[in-house]
Amino acid sequence: MINKDFYKIKDKYNDLDKSKAINDLSNFIKCKTISYIDQTKMDFSEFTKIHSYIIDNYPYINKYGKYNIINKGSIYYEIEGKDLNKPAIILMGHLDVVPPIEEDKWDYEPFSGEITEKYIYGRGSLDMKNIDCTILNSIEYSLSHFGKPDKTIYICFGHDEETLGKKGQWEIKNKLREKNVNIGMVIDEGGTYSKGTKYNISKDILEIQVGEKGYLDIKIEGTSEGGHSSNPGKSTALTNVCNAITKITSNPFESNLDDTLIKTINNIKPYIIDEEFKQLCDDVESNHDKIASYLDKKLNLGPYVKTTIAPTMISSDSKGANVLPKEVSAIINLRLSSFNKAKDVKEKIKDLLKDIDVKVTFLNEIDASQISSIDSNEYKLLTSLIKEHFNIDCIVPSISIGGTDCCFYTELTPNCYRFSPIINDEELAKTIHGVNEHVTIDSYINGIKFYIDLINKYCF
Ligand SMILES: [Zn+2]
Repeated sequence: MINKDFYKIKDKYNDLDKSKAINDLSNFIKCKTISYIDQTKMDFSEFTKIHSYIIDNYPYINKYGKYNIINKGSIYYEIEGKDLNKPAIILMGHLDVVPPIEEDKWDYEPFSGEITEKYIYGRGSLDMKNIDCTILNSIEYSLSHFGKPDKTIYICFGHDEETLGKKGQWEIKNKLREKNVNIGMVIDEGGTYSKGTKYNISKDILEIQVGEKGYLDIKIEGTSEGGHSSNPGKSTALTNVCNAITKITSNPFESNLDDTLIKTINNIKPYIIDEEFKQLCDDVESNHDKIASYLDKKLNLGPYVKTTIAPTMISSDSKGANVLPKEVSAIINLRLSSFNKAKDVKEKIKDLLKDIDVKVTFLNEIDASQISSIDSNEYKLLTSLIKEHFNIDCIVPSISIGGTDCCFYTELTPNCYRFSPIINDEELAKTIHGVNEHVTIDSYINGIKFYIDLINKYCF
């Protein structure tokens, strides 16, 4: 449970301008930076407002750093260090948000940036304008106190993370690769704090994500003659599309333990409560398959052991209950484990559907990311800072079952970590992409202190 005792660093950086930091986040939230897959629908003037805010309100970042705007929405700063032979750090964020839902159920208007005694409200307050402002306020603080850093710092903010990021962070990464930059560590959003209930252990747990699952959308289209429903023939476009969905979902992927999950299990082993799980974990190597199927049966852990299959969209051109459709299409979203490469999955799907009268198209494919090292000094620095800042005993590496822009950067460094130092209860975390998104002011201010320490230790 997160309460005041959760934060161990209280009397440090007391000259941090908290009210400015709080106002910054509120002002970021006021910009309606919603991203859409079709970027022509995006209002880039809202992104420009944030760019201008950063340029006007962080004098030290702008004194020591140079900014570049990418594809109208993204911005990255290069704050050159004194010693260019030393590896740089990249701190990532995204400026875009998903559209608000069920606006009548929010306590405050989604783009109000309302500040109350304990919370800041609004879309992006957790995902992830809070981290954007944490990065900016911590770097501003460090530069204002210590001047030019030894190592170069990159602040990279994308504008299309929520819609797969091919114009934002993807382009920034390409620019940095062209410059042949020497990168020591990348940090992006992610990592989770959860109660022991997640793995049924007696400790709360903090996960640093060292990789992420892959992605594949399958589009299934069926066509038929149409006409009156009283004479449907053997099947309609809708029947065929539904048969295809059933065929795919009834042939799930095998469960398996990857190296990261084995490391997670070895870390949590002393705290496991469930007897059956505990016994299995006494000999992970011999019980490999049994542990995988044990975890697969737990609803919240299944995604960690296998490729998931989620039918998400279906549409038909029929305008009435008595009208046969001519065209029906559906999307199934897959999150690929490291054991299933996109090219093999596509072959499997084509084979499964070979006798069903549908057209299959594959979209947005990306394999599971490379896995970052947990033996690096950078990973060790992160874990030691976490122990210093937060009252938590159990820190483990894990895989992100969703996706971030961070996977683009694995070609620049083996040390790409997804960890947000703004840690909130699971209940609050549920407001991400949901109703009434809000962040606690305590967690936000402590996040800034965490990043100040990280920057001071790594870059000065
Ligand atoms: Zn995010």
